[in-house]
Amino acid sequence: MKGDKVLRISVTDRCNLRCIYCMPESGVNLSPSDELLSYEEIELIGRAALDAGISKFRITGGEPLVRKGIIQLVEKLARLDSLDLALTTNGILLAEFAHSLKQAGLKRVTVSLDTLRKDRFEKIARRDGLEKIFTALDNSRKAGLAPIKINTVIIRGVNDDEILDFVRFGQKEKVEVRFIELMPFAGLNSGCKELGRWNKPLLVKGNEIKAAIEKEFGPLIDSRPEQGVAKIFQTESGAKVGLITPISDRFCDGCQRLRLGPEGKLRICLFDEQGIDLRKELRERKADQDQMAAILSEAFSRKNLWERGDLEKSAGEMFRIGG
Ligand code: SAM
Ligand code: SF4
Repeated sequence: MKGDKVLRISVTDRCNLRCIYCMPESGVNLSPSDELLSYEEIELIGRAALDAGISKFRITGGEPLVRKGIIQLVEKLARLDSLDLALTTNGILLAEFAHSLKQAGLKRVTVSLDTLRKDRFEKIARRDGLEKIFTALDNSRKAGLAPIKINTVIIRGVNDDEILDFVRFGQKEKVEVRFIELMPFAGLNSGCKELGRWNKPLLVKGNEIKAAIEKEFGPLIDSRPEQGVAKIFQTESGAKVGLITPISDRFCDGCQRLRLGPEGKLRICLFDEQGIDLRKELRERKADQDQMAAILSEAFSRKNLWERGDLEKSAGEMFRIGG
């Protein structure tokens, strides 16, 4: 069974962190603000998406909370009455935004967190702020942004010794921790002094993560089979754990996502480098809601024929695409 159709909306390519596997430390060409879709344009695309049968939205980035007036966008999308309205964030600004996000109509948050150790956080994110993320989790819970999920990219030699700590943390904090395999994106290049280019030894496959968890906590129970791209399990003691395995076990058949970039590029896959220029459709061809819905439906139907190609040659920029 496939899950509901989702539109992931990346609202900015700017970020207040510089994670070693995602964004180059310097030299990034950021989009000028007049090239970003306006909130009104995103709202129109959101309406069209609902017409096209897409029932869930996720706001992402770059770091979505650094875009000015983000609360207004949440309000606009919340008024559309989708089945779900979620946000993926690095959590740095979330403590101060949690309450107003909830008031604006956001339903839930996913927070990216790759380590529970302060010194290591600064190495991975190239900035500090771990304490702010812990406060953000508390404030999100108090605000009612539930369920909270954590995204953790596991990298060999960097944080693979924290897998069990994350399972314990998830259980204590009552959050689902989703372990993600490292993917080859533009942040991983010869200029990345910490990791260099993406290479297989850095990859910790989902099976290896699962085996490590089972060795400590006993067999993982499949708790939400065949729904979307994450495989969700539970330990015998009740900790919820997710595995997202784009490299070792491609999940294309279960993928019901379209991705909208901040500059209006619609991608049918994470690895779709060409995309469809929705900004041009809106600004030059003056596409209305019906025409936009037709474009989105057509994009979805093309997913069935999509062949994602050689991942190791991918030059996509995750900080623009939004994860
Ligand atoms: N800034 C927000 C955040 O970090 O949650 C939202 C955007 S970020 C690009 C979305 C997700 O993409 C994060 O969970 C991040 O860990 C993941 N990501 C970025 N680069 C990745 C890579 N090379 N491999 C796997 N996941 C990656
Ligand atoms: Fe920024 Fe998120 Fe990329 Fe980290 S993963 S650099 S927080 S966009």
